[in-house]
Amino acid sequence: MNAGVEALRREIAARADGLPDTVVMEVCGTHTHAMRRYGIRQLLPGNIRLVSGPGCPVCVTDGRDLARALWLAGQRNVTLCSFGDMLRVPCGKESLLSLAAKGARVRVVVSPLEALQLARAEPRRAIVYFGVGFETTAPLTAALVDQAGRQSIPNLSVLSVHKTMPEAVRTLMRSGARVDALLCPGHVAAVAGAEAFRFVPEELRLPAAVSGFEAEEMLLALAALMGMLRAKKPGLVNAYPRAAAPYGNPAALALLEGVFEPRAANWRGLGEIPASGLALRGEYAGFDAEKRFDIPLTDVPEPAGCRCADVLRGLLEPPECPLFGSACAPQSPVGACMVSSEGACAAHYAYGRDL
Ligand code: SF4
Ligand code: SF4
Repeated sequence: MNAGVEALRREIAARADGLPDTVVMEVCGTHTHAMRRYGIRQLLPGNIRLVSGPGCPVCVTDGRDLARALWLAGQRNVTLCSFGDMLRVPCGKESLLSLAAKGARVRVVVSPLEALQLARAEPRRAIVYFGVGFETTAPLTAALVDQAGRQSIPNLSVLSVHKTMPEAVRTLMRSGARVDALLCPGHVAAVAGAEAFRFVPEELRLPAAVSGFEAEEMLLALAALMGMLRAKKPGLVNAYPRAAAPYGNPAALALLEGVFEPRAANWRGLGEIPASGLALRGEYAGFDAEKRFDIPLTDVPEPAGCRCADVLRGLLEPPECPLFGSACAPQSPVGACMVSSEGACAAHYAYGRDL
C-alpha cells in the first residue's frame, strides 16, 4: 500500500470512529468497478458500507427503451449502431446480439461519429444510432446530430435514451433510500459541473463529494464525506478539481443545450423520472428516430427471479440475488447488471464478494 493511500485510510478511520453504521452510495459505473478493483471496501472501517446506485448507463436502460432498439434493429432497411455492451442485455427472449445472429444489421461503434460515416457510405439504408448514457456520452451524440444537420445527412437518426443524473439522485433519495452520504460521479461533474450536485447537501441534507477514479482520489472523497458526517455539516466537496470545474465544460454544455431538451425518462429500477432524460429538440426532428419511425411501445418484464431493480436502488447486494453466480454470470447474464463490467453484479462477480 503506498504512503498516500495508507495516510488516507488512517484519516478515514479516525473520522469514522464513533459514527453509527453509515452507508455511502456511489452512482457511477466506473466507481463501482474501480472500488472493487482497488479493494477500497477492505480499506474502510467496519461501520462504513459502500453501495452502488443507478450509475451504470447500460444497467439503467429500461426494458421498454431496449425493446424499441430491438424493434428498429428488426426493420429490414435499418442498421442500428450501438455501444457494444448494450448488445448483450437481455430483452425478453432476445437481445440485440441474438437479433444480429439472425441477420439483423447491428453495428458496434466506439464513437457516435462512426454512425455518420456509415450513413454516408450506405445512403440507401436508414442508419439509427442508439444513444445511451449520461452527461458524459450525450455531448458526443449531440455532436453527431449537429454534424448530420450541417452535412444534411438524410438517412441518419438517433434513438435517444440518454439520461441525466441529478433528477435520478433526487428521486432515489426522496424514495427513502437508506443513504448517509453520496460519492458523486466525476465524469458527470466534468461535463455538468461539480455544482450540479449542490442540491444534495442543500435539499437532501446529505454530504456529497465529487470523486475521481484513482484509489487515492476515491479515498480523498470518502475522507471528505467522513469529515462532514462527523461534523454533522453536510456540504459539497469537489475532490476531483483536476477534471471537474464548478460549472463544468461550457462547450459540451452548449452542445447538449443546443441539440437536446429535458424530458421524462424510464430508469430500470426507478421507473419514470420527470426531466431526467434528453430528447432531441424540435428543430432536429428529422434526425429523431422516434419521429421517423412508428416504434411500438412494449413492456418487458424483468426475468423471473432477477433483482436488478433492488440492486440499482442500493437495497440489495448482488450476491443476495438468488440468481447471482449460478443462473446469472457474465458469460450468460440474466439481468442487465451482469452485462457491463461497470454493472454492480458484474463488478461483484469479477472481484469477489468481500472486496
Ligand atoms: S461518470 Fe463516467 S464512468 Fe461514471 S457512469 Fe458516468 S460515464 Fe460512466
Ligand atoms: S445477479 Fe443477475 S439477475 Fe440477479 S440482480 Fe444481478 S444481474 Fe440481475
